Amino acid sequence: MNVAESERMAGQLYKIGYKLTDDIAAADLILINSCCVRATAEDKIYGKIGELNRYKLQNPALIIGVMGCLAQKDGDDLIKRYPNVDFVLGTARRGELSNVVESFESARKRFVDTSNVSGQIIEPEVFPIRTGKVSAFVPIMYGCNNFCTYCIVPYVRGRERSRPAAEIFAEIKNAVDNGYKEITLLGQNVNSYGKDLQEMTFAKLLAAVDKIEGLKRLRFMTSHPKDLSDELIDVMANGKNICEHIHLPVQYGSNKILQKMNRVYTVEKYFELVKKIRAAIPNISLTTDLIVGFPGETEKDFQLTLDFLREIKFDMAFTFIYSERSGTPAANFDGKVDDETKHRRLNELMAVQNEISLAKNLQLDDTTVEVLVEGASKTDKNIFTGRTRTNKSVLFPHGTESAGDLINVKVNQVQTWILKGIRDFL
Ligand code: SAH
Ligand code: SF4
Repeated sequence: MNVAESERMAGQLYKIGYKLTDDIAAADLILINSCCVRATAEDKIYGKIGELNRYKLQNPALIIGVMGCLAQKDGDDLIKRYPNVDFVLGTARRGELSNVVESFESARKRFVDTSNVSGQIIEPEVFPIRTGKVSAFVPIMYGCNNFCTYCIVPYVRGRERSRPAAEIFAEIKNAVDNGYKEITLLGQNVNSYGKDLQEMTFAKLLAAVDKIEGLKRLRFMTSHPKDLSDELIDVMANGKNICEHIHLPVQYGSNKILQKMNRVYTVEKYFELVKKIRAAIPNISLTTDLIVGFPGETEKDFQLTLDFLREIKFDMAFTFIYSERSGTPAANFDGKVDDETKHRRLNELMAVQNEISLAKNLQLDDTTVEVLVEGASKTDKNIFTGRTRTNKSVLFPHGTESAGDLINVKVNQVQTWILKGIRDFL
C-alpha cells in the first residue's frame, strides 16, 4: 500500500516539476512515506529522519517532508522533535501534497496537517509514477473498519472509503494501455469494497476488471477471512486472468487469542473457508500473516497454532512478533509475553512453516510453471526472475525473454521461498 501511495505522491510532484532521482544527495526534496504498524517500522523511520540531517547541512534549500501513518500518528510531536523536517502531512491530506510543497517553496514556513483522518480521499488528477514495469498496484479503497485489538491502522488511516469503480477502471485501462501485464488491487480488506458506495461488491468489481482487454494477470490483497464471500470464490473459480493465490491473514491458531484479537472468526470457521476455497479453485496457493506473543498467549495456545499450521499447510506465511501500539485496546491487556519467549516462539513458528513451504514447493519440482518475467535478478544479470500465477518467485537463466513476457519454466531445483528452473519451450 505504501509503495502504491508513494507512486501517487511522485505523480503529484511530477506535475509541479519534480523528477525521481536515485541519488539522495542530489535531491531537492526528500519525502518519507512512513508506516507505524509495528515499532520496528517506526524506529527505522525515526532513524532515517535523523540521518537526513547531513543532506540538509550540505544543502540548506533541501525540503524534507514526512507523510503516511507515522506522520498521522505523531504529527505535531514529530515536527517539534525534528527541526530538519519541513512539513508533515497526514494520511487524509495526501491530495494536498503538491500545494503544500509549492507553498513551502515560496514561504519557507514549516507546516503540519493531520486533520480529517477519515475524510474523503481526493485523488488529484495525476497518474502515479510506477516503480515496476510489469506489475501495477491499484488501490481500490482506503482505511479500515475492523479494529483488530492489536492494530493501529484504523486509527491512522480512518474509516473505510472505496474509490468509485469508474475511477478504478480508468486507472487500470490506462496502466494496461501502457504495457502493464499484471494488476494488484489493494485495500486493507478488499472484501468490504463498495459497502460505502452501494455500487458493486468486490466480487463484481474483480469480475469486471478480469474482462479488461490486454490484462494478463489479476491479483488482490488483503482479504479478511470474516467476509470472504461465496460470490468471490465463484468469480475466482471462473476467472480468466485472476491468479490462483489468496493472501488470507489468519493471525493465530487458537480461538481464545483470535477472540481477544477481535478477528470475529474461529479456527474452525477459517478451516471451513479454506476447504471451500481449495475445493473450488484447485492449485490455489494460500499465504497468511501470523502474530506471536499477543497478550495472554500461553504455551498451549502456541502449540495449538503450530498444530493448526501443520494441518492447514499454507504455502507461505509472514510472521511477526506482537508489537504494542499505544492507543489500541491490546496495549492495556494483561498477560504480556516476555521478549525471550516471543523470540523463541517466532523461531519455532518459522521453523515449522519453512518445512511446510519447502514441502509445498517440492510438489512443483519437475513440473512446468507459467512465469510472468519481471527482469534480471538482484544479484546476477544473467539470471532472470518472475512469478508463477500462485505468486511464487522463479529464477531461470536469461535467454531471449524480456520483462512482461509470459513463458513456461521447467522447475529443477526447489527452495523454501524460491523455485529455480530452465525455460521450457514445449
Ligand atoms: N489489513 C490487513 C493487514 C494489514 S497490517 C489484514 O487485516 O489482513 C499487516 C499485518 O501486520 C497484519 O496482518 C498483522 O499480522 C501484522 N500486524 C498488525 N499490527 C500488528 C502489531 N501491533 N504487532 C505485530 N504485527 C502486527
Ligand atoms: Fe488492522 Fe485488522 Fe484492519 Fe487489517 S483488518 S488493517 S489487521 S484492523
